[in-house]
Amino acid sequence: MDRKTPVGVLGATGMVGQHFVNFLQNHPWFEITWVGASDRSAGKKYSDATNWRLEGSMPATVAGLTVSDCNPGTGAPDLVFSAMDASVATEIERAFAEAGHTVVSNSKNHRMESDVPLLVPEINADHLRLLKAQKERRGWKGQIVTNPNCSTVALTLGLAPLKPFGIKAVLVTTMQAISGAGYPGVPSMDIMGNVIPFIGGEEEKMQVETQKILGSFAGDHIVDLPAAVSAHCNRVAVVDGHTVAVSVTLEQAVTKADLLAAYRNFDALPQQKGLPSAPKPAVLYLDEDNRPQPRRDAMRGNGMTVTVGRLRECPVLGWKFVCMGHNTIRGAAGAAVLNAEMMLEEGLIRR
Ligand code: NAP
Repeated sequence: MDRKTPVGVLGATGMVGQHFVNFLQNHPWFEITWVGASDRSAGKKYSDATNWRLEGSMPATVAGLTVSDCNPGTGAPDLVFSAMDASVATEIERAFAEAGHTVVSNSKNHRMESDVPLLVPEINADHLRLLKAQKERRGWKGQIVTNPNCSTVALTLGLAPLKPFGIKAVLVTTMQAISGAGYPGVPSMDIMGNVIPFIGGEEEKMQVETQKILGSFAGDHIVDLPAAVSAHCNRVAVVDGHTVAVSVTLEQAVTKADLLAAYRNFDALPQQKGLPSAPKPAVLYLDEDNRPQPRRDAMRGNGMTVTVGRLRECPVLGWKFVCMGHNTIRGAAGAAVLNAEMMLEEGLIRR
């Protein structure tokens, strides 16, 4: 690709917005030319409006951009990533799509709408075909595509290699990093030496999003995976990386060797197409008894690989394993960038 595609970031000054800015640094296809945030930040230079919280310094290419307010018609390019605060994302993302923009969103607001793809391109790239119905039904020139909740990405990529064996029931317990709560997130006096067994809305999101992502495209909607999914979500004193302990019932009688082979042979479209942010492999099975671990494994594949381990028989549901993914990269900004790469590759975004 000779010239890069200009992109904007809605909510660029926030935690996930900063991850977008960081992840898109030196991206071979995309270049940030526009940043948007609230009225509190609009009109300021990005470097003045943003309290940079990530390791390393703010990319110089973005530091000097002037922050716009989040209204279409303020010079945003066709393609915008959204890291909007959920309290305002519904209306703002819709307004951008109506005005002809492609919105690749990380926010929860539109994920479960029947004509909105909830995309993990290694699993359900065919769900992008919903966009035809979305445009027809809504009369939009633009479009909205979403990526899942941060713990759901790790879970669905951990389950995807097993899908050919028929997934009947899934029971998961998460150990979720504090960075998933944004900045400053959970107070240190609440989380140090502690486990908090509640993350508002998270269990419901994991349950329904998993069924939609692993479901089947049916013209103008998705038929959910017909499997019961139950989640227990916990916040633990880890900085980055959500760990998910999974028990699963499969329809087919399989051996451990069958399942290990499924993990090792899992090959998906983004990897086959060589998309710039597609990790190789997307799912890495680790043989060591004590892996995956967030501190050691979260940054594999530039933060985009989901690691799996400890596959063994479960006396209750059949099989169990542990999976883990970087929550703000694979679970947020990196996921959205990979979605946009897939859309560009499929001709769904103007170059
Ligand atoms: P955040 O740090 O609070 O950032 C929110 C962003 O939205 C800021 O850029 C803020 O701009 C902007 N904003 C707030 N009110 C606005 C308004 N009325 N109009 C326009 N812009 C407005 O939040 P975050 O942690 O990055 O999360 C962003 C989204 O990603 C949320 O929907 C969240 O649920 C989702 N998410 C977060 C994580 C995570 O790990 N944190 C993971 C997955 C998904 P100002 O700086 O000007 O206020």
